[in-house]
Amino acid sequence: MSKWIFLALVVLALWYGYRWYERTKRIRAEERGRVRAGAAPASRTSEDMRQCPACGVYIAADAAPCARPDCPQRARRA
Ligand SMILES: [Zn+2]
Repeated sequence: MSKWIFLALVVLALWYGYRWYERTKRIRAEERGRVRAGAAPASRTSEDMRQCPACGVYIAADAAPCARPDCPQRARRA
């Protein structure tokens, strides 16, 4: 009979261990996501965005030029 009590305790320990593992994994993932969400806008603003005078579209400084032949981005690249 004590064998079954021992088995029940082992199952309980495994169950609680599994739940604890899942919870810490979830909390760690949430913390990683929070750090990523805080870092994303900073990296986005550090990107040098400028408005193209020819087409009026905001593009990154190292972006490809638009289809217009007078696009300054084209001259910058040439
Ligand atoms: Zn352009």
